[in-house]
Amino acid sequence: MKFRTSTLDEEVEAIFSVIQYSPNNWSPEKIKKTFKINIDLNLINLIKETTLDKIKSKLKEIFSKKYEEEQSKINIRDISKKWNEKKIEILSKLKNIIEHKIEEEEITCVLLCLVNNGLYKVDEKQIEVFYDSKDFLFLMTHELFHILYWQVWKELFNETKIKNKKSWLLSEIIDYLVLDNNEIKNLWQNKQQPFFEKEIIWPKIFNAWKIRENFDSFLIEAKKIID
Ligand SMILES: [Zn+2]
Repeated sequence: MKFRTSTLDEEVEAIFSVIQYSPNNWSPEKIKKTFKINIDLNLINLIKETTLDKIKSKLKEIFSKKYEEEQSKINIRDISKKWNEKKIEILSKLKNIIEHKIEEEEITCVLLCLVNNGLYKVDEKQIEVFYDSKDFLFLMTHELFHILYWQVWKELFNETKIKNKKSWLLSEIIDYLVLDNNEIKNLWQNKQQPFFEKEIIWPKIFNAWKIRENFDSFLIEAKKIID
């Protein structure tokens, strides 16, 4: 894993996508928990209604000062040490569960400083993770797993991207199931809070997971459920 700090562009893109894709229930508490800077509701509503192109320069203007301040607090060496101390254990456990080789050396971890969240970019082999997350290793592994997932998905089905809401949801459910596995879950600080328990596909996927022969056969079943 290569670590680097974010650019201001990446930071505002992350803020934009967190606001765009999360449900519309921003409370002052949630804003405080999610961002290093207070974002008022008017701006959130504005972001919801526009495109990144239209608002990017404005966001850069608003966040540039705080970005500089927070950037200076990041200690890349400490953070990479945190990962390196645990990575052999994390990766070997993941490998036992999914039975696929994990090439984490090729992946870059961008440290976000303004938004307490994580995201991933498959084509760039890049994950982006809030540097000061309380459960940093979990968040990193969650995003890393998304990349592995799409690699395996491509090998099996020759598809590389999220096609629709269902395929997005499936990727989140499987990420949850893998990281909630008994073999690995004791490494995380917090218990994961699944957000999809009311979704129709959840019990079906969970059942296929429980009776799986191996990870690939499970993915084949899971794909049948969403197709
Ligand atoms: Zn995710």
